[in-house]
Amino acid sequence: MDGRMIFMALGGAQEVGASCYFLKLGENNLLLDCGCGSTRGIRFAPQFSALLDTPYLQDFHQVSHVFLSHAHLDHSAALPDFLELNERAAVYMTDLTREILSAQLEDRFATIERNISSVAFLQKIPLPRLSISFHQAGHIPGAMMTLINFRGKNILYTGDYSTFPTQLVGSALLPNVKIDILILCGLHARHPNYRRFGDTDSALKKILRKIYYALRRGKSVYCRVTQISKGVELITLINKFLPQAEIFIDERVMKIVHRFENLHIRIMSAQNHPLSVLPRGPHVILSTMPPPLHSSMEILNGDFSLHDDFITTVEFVRRLNPTVCVVVHSPPDKLFHARTTLEQVLINDPDSRTSFIFPQTGEPFEL
Ligand SMILES: [Zn+2]
Ligand SMILES: [Zn+2]
Repeated sequence: MDGRMIFMALGGAQEVGASCYFLKLGENNLLLDCGCGSTRGIRFAPQFSALLDTPYLQDFHQVSHVFLSHAHLDHSAALPDFLELNERAAVYMTDLTREILSAQLEDRFATIERNISSVAFLQKIPLPRLSISFHQAGHIPGAMMTLINFRGKNILYTGDYSTFPTQLVGSALLPNVKIDILILCGLHARHPNYRRFGDTDSALKKILRKIYYALRRGKSVYCRVTQISKGVELITLINKFLPQAEIFIDERVMKIVHRFENLHIRIMSAQNHPLSVLPRGPHVILSTMPPPLHSSMEILNGDFSLHDDFITTVEFVRRLNPTVCVVVHSPPDKLFHARTTLEQVLINDPDSRTSFIFPQTGEPFEL
């Protein structure tokens, strides 16, 4: 029997966007995540067709299972596209991911709903010759890591994760087994100069500080968020650190807020209102839309990172000490052209036994 293990990134390899990873374990063909990317406003999906150029797959229907790590669009938004190619695939995600996804995909969610099975953390699902379980990944509510046992080997796909707690979710809780193969969403694995400070990203502190000073000067703030779920995170942060601030929230972010609250995750305070209510006095607008052209409001970019920084990424891999680490979701360091990577640090570590693969999209590897 064929016991080979093949990995191929269909998108989101050495970049962020369209995360989708094909994993062939013997006769099992799996997809890890199914996201979209965008460059300068143009949407791009994973290169599904590259799969048919390999000897590993003749038909998309041979992919039996898709595991969706979390609801961010770069990991989830191409799911309807894939299910058009393979309407039979079984898709697994947590309840919370399903909730956030249904709010984000809107009408398109109805077309994929019947393929989805909800899974809980630590739940195990048995597949022929595979045992699979799911683990809390931190990062955003509902985010999961997927652990697959195949022929006695443990393969862990992290998805986006954080080893620190965020406003809305606790830190990653790793399975208590030896990991042989780690498929790592290592956003900062090549950013040696990127450092977080404590539990709060420095970008987040900057946003809060700017809002604080603007409101004190009697000015209103327009804060644009890039991901809807980050808007929710910002609301809880502003409520916590600037409890007097009046926040007006756009419809799309509001929708997710309601989903969270339905699942008993408390977000709103008395100072939070839908944007349809007319704001008076200095206030904060949280929106996924571009700011109005002529406005006296202070415009803020509400983007911040919910990922481990370089040092914690190194620590994470050092601790797991897998035989093989496949690093994806890992853009190069544009700002500093730094050459130091996770791999270079651990190569000089006598206790590390890990060999690294930084795959390109469309390039298959035998693990
Ligand atoms: Zn994410
Ligand atoms: Zn991501």
